[in-house]
Amino acid sequence: MAATATTPLATPPSLPPPRKTYPSHVRAVSYGKALFADADLPAGTVVERFEGEVVEYDQVSEKDKTYVLNFLPPGETEWKWLLPTSDARFANHSCDPNAKLTNLQIILTRPVKKDEEITFLYNPGDDTDYWDPAWNFKCCCGSTDCQGDIDRYRKPKA
Ligand SMILES: [Zn+2]
Repeated sequence: MAATATTPLATPPSLPPPRKTYPSHVRAVSYGKALFADADLPAGTVVERFEGEVVEYDQVSEKDKTYVLNFLPPGETEWKWLLPTSDARFANHSCDPNAKLTNLQIILTRPVKKDEEITFLYNPGDDTDYWDPAWNFKCCCGSTDCQGDIDRYRKPKA
């Protein structure tokens, strides 16, 4: 393995420190793995958080492309790539999600029942000219508003 220049993810000062546990768990499903609610939970509950190493674009392997999180750190203008090690990596996309991603935290946007799958929108970004077509995927969320092709992974500007 090549030497890498990874930087541990610093907790942005505006966020509370990470918790040890969240009211969610990972289970195998027919389409891989997924994140589920431990109990009936109200909207606003923080159900998981992305933790891991921040890496450069070229350090993301084929395998990790499924899990990598493209995010804009608070107060920064350069998008980063996070290789998640927390259960958040298994939270799937839905075009009709019950959660959203805010400051690396997965937060419920509506109440969920115990054992309901927790999903968020992977592509909330606005249109720019540097999406990476290599990371697109076909959505199978089954929502009547399904977008079909999900294409909101950013590529560094040349
Ligand atoms: Zn969909």
